[in-house]
Amino acid sequence: MHHAVWYKLCSQHTQNRSLTFLPWIEDDETAYSFCSTTHRLSGSANGETTSLNLFGIRSGAWRHAQPHSLPRLPLPETDTPEGAFRWAARHTVAGLYIPFMTPSARHVATAAWTAREPTRSLNYRMPGSFWPQHPLKWCPDCVSEDIARLGRPYWHVSHQLPTTWLCVQHRRALFWVPTRYMRWLLPTDVLCRAKRRSLGDDCAQLGNLLASLGHVVLSSDGAAVDLSLAQSRAAERLLKLGVRCLSSVVRDASLDEWFRTTETSKFLNACPAWLSNLAQGTWISQCLDPSRKLHPVLFLVLWSSLQWRSSELACAALVDAAWGNRLASRAQTPAIHATTRSTRPLCTT
Ligand SMILES: [Zn+2]
Repeated sequence: MHHAVWYKLCSQHTQNRSLTFLPWIEDDETAYSFCSTTHRLSGSANGETTSLNLFGIRSGAWRHAQPHSLPRLPLPETDTPEGAFRWAARHTVAGLYIPFMTPSARHVATAAWTAREPTRSLNYRMPGSFWPQHPLKWCPDCVSEDIARLGRPYWHVSHQLPTTWLCVQHRRALFWVPTRYMRWLLPTDVLCRAKRRSLGDDCAQLGNLLASLGHVVLSSDGAAVDLSLAQSRAAERLLKLGVRCLSSVVRDASLDEWFRTTETSKFLNACPAWLSNLAQGTWISQCLDPSRKLHPVLFLVLWSSLQWRSSELACAALVDAAWGNRLASRAQTPAIHATTRSTRPLCTT
């Protein structure tokens, strides 16, 4: 969309609000980042005022993974189901979850995104006691480049995925803040060393693989995954690796045992508690059970453990398993959301 068209559309949304300036939103920028930048440009010291202008509620800042209401934001085309769906897929972590939603779950999610009233957070719960978390994450090198290029830093959607802990552009571990700050923050606000966390660069190989797989899912633009095909391809791969996989309906202890020997399990042990709980592999049988919901976090973690020779091969195989031939051409360019500035290859061995 041309910038002039963007500003004209945005201005139509701001006629009755006290928002003077609106930022352009980058391809890989979160809706929360757009709100934080709007707050900064407003010159207001009061985040509640910005929340009221954006959403009609005072506490709009606390939910950075999903905004309270997409149609209330001064963004074009968010007031139609198609537009709201597209914005959610491209500018929130929902881009990871949408492709794995069943048709009925998509219907519920789209209804929530098109509601003008502040909506409750969508439920991304995994089977069992695992809950994916979405702390604010950033890459210091991306922050420097964004400031040099745009004059401002922003939160990248691709960094916020629950399975992404490394920046594939710079091959360095992401920083994150473990708590919610209930404020409109930008990455430069949380660079404080005492508060930030990082897995360190020792986890680069698995971190790169998981981040690359996340890019592949984001790049699908919300296209529905063939869930049963994806599960059967994972089971086939396990058999090819010589891993006994007798039944997907009951828990198979040998699968757990095998998983604990993988690099993925070691990587998970270095992650925050909710992810390190997956290191024992007790969830794999459920993940392969066709009668159960296939969760994207579990599936990507399982896929990363299947002993691929390179990230490129893992990504191409994921496209084939999840979407068949429909998205095969995208296996070559999985980083369509990574940013328009990047010319570096996404996946490296
Ligand atoms: Zn980076």
